[in-house]
Amino acid sequence: AKNAGKNEIQFFNKEMQKDVLKRIQLENGLFTAVRNNELYMVFQPQYTSDSKKLRGYEALARWEYSELGFISPGQFIPIAEETGIIIEMGKWIFRTVLEKFMEFQKRFDKKPMVSINISVVQMIEPNFVTMVKEILNETGFDSRYLELEITESVFISYPDHIINVIKQLREFGIRIAIDDFGTGYASLSYLHLLPINVLKIDKAFIDLITTQKAISQIVSNIINLSHQLGIEVVAEGVEDEEQLNALIQFNCDYIQGYLFSKPISEEQLFQMHD
Ligand code: C2E
Ligand code: CA
Ligand code: CA
Ligand code: CA
Repeated sequence: AKNAGKNEIQFFNKEMQKDVLKRIQLENGLFTAVRNNELYMVFQPQYTSDSKKLRGYEALARWEYSELGFISPGQFIPIAEETGIIIEMGKWIFRTVLEKFMEFQKRFDKKPMVSINISVVQMIEPNFVTMVKEILNETGFDSRYLELEITESVFISYPDHIINVIKQLREFGIRIAIDDFGTGYASLSYLHLLPINVLKIDKAFIDLITTQKAISQIVSNIINLSHQLGIEVVAEGVEDEEQLNALIQFNCDYIQGYLFSKPISEEQLFQMHD
């Protein structure tokens, strides 16, 4: 038993060592990911819940790392945030997405909404608003079709500053969505204080909407309260018809999820509309 214990400790240390090495490898890789053309964007459509009309697309980052293969954003975004790489990477994402959708608008004469995820780290960076303004000018993208997704945690950490930043963004006509709503805090109580246009209900709620009465009640309440406040609602991670029907019943405005479509590549995006 003594020996087994020893081995366990050794094993644990090796695992830890492996994690540390992998982390260093990921950090190094991230620094050069953009330069090496390893980063690209995919786009997940959102539809109106009742008539399945296209509302727009959420842009999601992908990293195909030459050394380790596909790394999920759940893994690399937190590292990009901790290292500050997210500032440069976020700028690249912003420009790339707006350039793509300018091209899309010209080619198809259609103007879907475009949603871009913004990290707290990006939002509190002093140059953020200037960066946004510059890229809007450079690309000529009409800001009324741009939505920025931020998580509710930003309001907890930097409430006054963030509200000020949002006000400046909204002056250009940019729309603000609160992402992953309901995952962090008892948020309904301060919803009326947030200067947002759209609320995205987290997949964790949608997963349980057809099996747990209490959850479906909460979702229904979130939607009703949002509408009273003039906020539109997107349900995330909708995977089956039953969930869709429940959401239609609750008057949810928009649906995003595998039921309608997984995130699609740029090529698919352009083919779909051809
Ligand atoms: P998120 O913003 O909540 O994005 C939704 C995630 O749910 C995406 O995962 C999407 O692919 C996935 N999803 C959508 N519908 C379904 C469904 O029906 N079923 C299931 N199982 N999953 C679904 P993804 O692309 O892996 O992104 C994970 C997270 O990484 C995002 O969560 C977001 O927080 C972050 N992220 C992704 N791209 C970016 C980016 O460009 N910038 C920043 N700052 N964060 C990003
Ligand atoms: Ca999002
Ligand atoms: Ca989300
Ligand atoms: Ca999420």
